[in-house]
Amino acid sequence: MIDKIFIVDTTVFITGYILNGLSGINVITVPEVVNELQCSKNIFLEIALNYNLGIESSREDTIKQVKNMAKETGDINKLSDTDISLIAKALEYNNKKDVVILSDDYAIQNVCSKFGIKSKGIIQAGIKEEIIWKKRCIGCKRIYNEGDICPVCGSDLKIKKVKRYERDR
Ligand SMILES: [Zn+2]
Repeated sequence: MIDKIFIVDTTVFITGYILNGLSGINVITVPEVVNELQCSKNIFLEIALNYNLGIESSREDTIKQVKNMAKETGDINKLSDTDISLIAKALEYNNKKDVVILSDDYAIQNVCSKFGIKSKGIIQAGIKEEIIWKKRCIGCKRIYNEGDICPVCGSDLKIKKVKRYERDR
């Protein structure tokens, strides 16, 4: 029985927070986030498998509830379809589980607070670096976009955080 669920936005993957702060915890995101990520579907699926990540579509009725609330708070124009879907997913689990939405988006945080959903920022949590997901050969260390076996040396490829850089402030 899992009590605590984190609903996570795109930032969580870009910053690598899912590796640093969430391993072993039940994490859920929506398909829209997967589409926003600049990595191949295969790599994302491996991240999902390694980090106990669920990908669930949000329901029409909760999406409608979120849109109505966002109109009331004046946040509707600041929220993308992905944002709305994330909040809707959090709403579906709220009251059943201890839900925390992880996002740096203030419009998301604001609408969540109206629903009584807890939110937490990633940048405030001290994650400054940005990363890109690739695959690296465990033998020759070459970097690839996808695949399971290195075409050069035949060793296994593992998912790897690459291209780190500090966020511009
Ligand atoms: Zn290799």
